Amino acid sequence: MGSRLFPRRASLRVIASSLALVLVFIIVGSFFLWDPEPSFRPSPAIEVSDEALRIHREALVVDLHADSLLWPRDLTLEGQGGHVDFPRMRTGGLDAVGFTNVTAFFGLAGLKAFHDRWPSATWFSPWERLRFQLRKMQAWVDAGEVALATDAAALRFHHEAGRVSVFHGIEGAHALGDDVNRVEEVAALGVLFISPVHLSDNAYGGSSSGSDRGLSALGRDLVEAMNRAGVMLDLAHASPATFDDAIALTELPPLVSHAGVRAVHDSWRNLSDRQIRAVAERGGIIGIMLAPPALSEPSLGEALDHIEHVIDVAGEDAVAIGSDFDGYVQTPIDAEGMPQLSELMLRRGFSETRIKKVLGGNVVALLSRREH
Ligand SMILES: [Zn+2]
Repeated sequence: MGSRLFPRRASLRVIASSLALVLVFIIVGSFFLWDPEPSFRPSPAIEVSDEALRIHREALVVDLHADSLLWPRDLTLEGQGGHVDFPRMRTGGLDAVGFTNVTAFFGLAGLKAFHDRWPSATWFSPWERLRFQLRKMQAWVDAGEVALATDAAALRFHHEAGRVSVFHGIEGAHALGDDVNRVEEVAALGVLFISPVHLSDNAYGGSSSGSDRGLSALGRDLVEAMNRAGVMLDLAHASPATFDDAIALTELPPLVSHAGVRAVHDSWRNLSDRQIRAVAERGGIIGIMLAPPALSEPSLGEALDHIEHVIDVAGEDAVAIGSDFDGYVQTPIDAEGMPQLSELMLRRGFSETRIKKVLGGNVVALLSRREH
């Protein structure tokens, strides 16, 4: 009996370990097959008049904030998902986009880098994740797919030549580690602005979705290094205390690359009237997001309410677009739908001058002020 029982146990063991192996394959396989990028669900399109289209085509249209580099998509190809690629920028008359490099979110960015088969150096290092994204964009620039803009003149030049352009920002200074000297290095690569914090508090300061701590000593060193390197301060995601500390230190015109206003929708991501005035008084601008949580719902009409509120509080030179396209959010349009914004501004009685300022004129003016 005993001698027959033994082989039966052995075969059970073989079956069990085979099943375990199959299970591991299924788990690993589904991890790599799983696509975490939310699918784009556009709102019903608004019909765009010839007049709005003419203004839109003439304008230099700029979006201050898109997170497209977070996703494993080839931006030279159309229709690979998400909100932005270079062909859709051309169709939508979106002349320039600020690609904001994200390197940390809730401890998951390394796992995502592994999932997306980024180089192994990026799995444990926000700095390497930043460098990887900058290299990825630079390769498209080198291949002539898109132009890199590092100042106002370049934005205008590329627009006049009929080329879409890109510029760099960094969302969350943890990308730099604890070495603020890296600001010089990223400035040399074309980074125009940095937000000290992103979705959680970090060594630099407090996040609007973290605690209301102010800028740390390292955070102050960062803003001073940015002043020296000519890198602008992006106050998006800053806690109120960090916002106040940082804006008091910056010597360059600040921006809020993507946010909404509390007077229209009282969200943790949005700015008070006092904050809007503080940015405008220093020659800065606010990019209005096209998605929740800055908006209460994905609605271009509501985005216009936020834009109008900034104009009411701080004037028409203080507002821009910071869509947050590809930022794990639901927007009513993608890059191709941008002319609908011009149409809505026209319907609200905005002058042609005002429409062109909101669409991108104010971003060009901001970059000019940074240089002087
Ligand atoms: Zn963001």
